[in-house]
Amino acid sequence: MAYHPGRHFLQVPGPTNIPDRILKAIAAPVLDHRGPEFTKLGREVLDRIKPVFKTRQPVMIFPASGTGGWESALVNTLSPGDTVMTFNTGQFAVLWEKMAKQLGLNVHTLTTDWRRGPSPESIEAALAEDKSHQIKAILLVHNETSNGVMSRVAEIRKAIDRAKHPALLMVDTISSLGSADFRFDEWGVDVAVGGSQKGLMLPAGLAFVAVSEKALKASKTAKLPRAFWDWEPMLANSTGGNFPYTPACNLFFGLKEALNLIDEEGLENIFIRHSRHAEATRRAVQAWGLETVCAEPLEYSQSVTAVFTPEGHSADGLRKVILERFNMALGAGLGKLADKVFRIGHLGDFNDLMLAGTLGGVEMGLSLSNIPHKSGGIVAALDHLSAQAGLRAAA
Ligand SMILES: *Cc1c(COP(=O)(O)O)cnc(C)c1O
Repeated sequence: MAYHPGRHFLQVPGPTNIPDRILKAIAAPVLDHRGPEFTKLGREVLDRIKPVFKTRQPVMIFPASGTGGWESALVNTLSPGDTVMTFNTGQFAVLWEKMAKQLGLNVHTLTTDWRRGPSPESIEAALAEDKSHQIKAILLVHNETSNGVMSRVAEIRKAIDRAKHPALLMVDTISSLGSADFRFDEWGVDVAVGGSQKGLMLPAGLAFVAVSEKALKASKTAKLPRAFWDWEPMLANSTGGNFPYTPACNLFFGLKEALNLIDEEGLENIFIRHSRHAEATRRAVQAWGLETVCAEPLEYSQSVTAVFTPEGHSADGLRKVILERFNMALGAGLGKLADKVFRIGHLGDFNDLMLAGTLGGVEMGLSLSNIPHKSGGIVAALDHLSAQAGLRAAA
């Protein structure tokens, strides 16, 4: 492969760009994971990750990708033959459902056209019908990374409460944590699963699992087999900053630095930044005359925008041209959206000029691929970015 001068543009919606400060933090000599310096660090990051989930409840850290967090959520709280509510709303929701089936759970699936999230009304109706409370948990993806649709978790919580249904609310926050507002305690979430390689700006390798009192109670009687993913030894060790097996030590150095960056910018400012970038991206898409996959403005994702290529034009062909000519990686269409959709990740360590470069690469790629579109996308995006340049959260 020929040398590509300049920086690679990594615009897939995770793994995301890692800031130099985090890379440097990770490149430190390994410590004894049972020694005093590491256990102090363990204690510190276990405490400091809580505000990112907006919770006072325990958050566990497993050495795994986010998928491990899904499994941990299920095996600790459910028993063989239990029914869970799942959603055919996008590829990640479908994969979580597939895992539930593999573990011996029954699924009650609600389906959409993959252009919107689960509707609170249909969840309420399905739960109200479940008079004998067969449904033990609801497996909701907060930010569906495959189509750029963000579920309305707060409204869904209210729908569950209106149906007076006791199911546990489990939320995959893997591509929203640290990019979009997520309120574990206020929204009455029972288990939330996060990952390190998206909004948290780290390499893959840490799965975060936040647990409510109700989920902990369920874990006392749940009968699915569990070993590696067992919460009990994780929680018992964590008070002393310890882990039942070797934690991903150097990623903890990176996590501490990621939490420093988050504190310095401010979580609410980070959400505003992501929301500006998402809106600027959608304005570019609209000016090009293309269509976002997400069809519900209340559910636009803050971290990723999925865009349809016009009928008869390959999205993978477009991505290939953009990678080869401009050294930029965009996300592929997943599952039934394969080759129909390209995805622009705008999350993590990302700024206005990176977005301008990203959208510039897309616009040039559209031209080079002879995909019908109008010009002016970049201008529309820049107008929005500059109009809202100074936006900050209220102090
Ligand atoms: C990336 C992602 C996953 C999968 O996480 P891995 O870390 O790849 O296991 C699951 N859910 C969502 C919403 C994601 O964005």
